[in-house]
Amino acid sequence: MPQNRTDAAVTARAGEIDLVLVDFDDTLVDTAPRFQRARRSLFARLASLGFPEDEIRRVHHDEVDPEMIHRYGLGPFRLEPAFRETYLRLCAAARVPVDPVVADECAALGLAVAGTPPVIEGAIEALRRLAATLPTAIYTQSGHPEYQLGCIRDAGVLDILPAERVRICRRKSPEEFREALAHFGVAAPEVACMVGNSVRSDVNPALANGARAILVEADDPWVFDIVEPISDAFVTVRSFAHAVGYLLDSSEA
Ligand SMILES: [Mg+2]
Repeated sequence: MPQNRTDAAVTARAGEIDLVLVDFDDTLVDTAPRFQRARRSLFARLASLGFPEDEIRRVHHDEVDPEMIHRYGLGPFRLEPAFRETYLRLCAAARVPVDPVVADECAALGLAVAGTPPVIEGAIEALRRLAATLPTAIYTQSGHPEYQLGCIRDAGVLDILPAERVRICRRKSPEEFREALAHFGVAAPEVACMVGNSVRSDVNPALANGARAILVEADDPWVFDIVEPISDAFVTVRSFAHAVGYLLDSSEA
């Protein structure tokens, strides 16, 4: 159920929605658990070598991963080089020799995270209900648009929405959100609603543009996604299906 105290304000205007933008990763498909599992395996392996756990996390999350996202873009393909590099940096800082076998092991843990993630139960059915009632589009981010579109197709999304209703940007931001609205022909942000699992990538860019937002709460959020919302003018739900129920119930009200 929606949990924010601004529900009333959002509901009162819900009949005016002309565009629902739907995030893909961790909103419709379960992407993060594979990333998180791989990271935990990496961290455990590195800790077993004697590197301090807080140093491992700091080097990976604060130094290496941002660099690799910048170089390779968001998506699983950065993990192989990022995992190897995390080990190399820790060795360099501790002035211990690199074991190439361990470096390959670390890289292999990153390489294992690829392919279409599993669909979240009920999400595709909910998308079908949503798209039958309100103008709907997928708005997602990836450093590898062809790969991402393949995942979107494999998840069954293109059986519901044509590829023209899918927008893949390299990195979500307030500017990219504005461009997405323009791309889908929406001039007034307040008639648009973003639905996604990330405060950083979904909620804040929508709010910054005066659009509405529904946060699909993640159980195990990526540290990068944990930021403060820029305002409390959004609704929080437990799943994408709940978000659709909320939008359709309030649009029928
Ligand atoms: Mg997401």
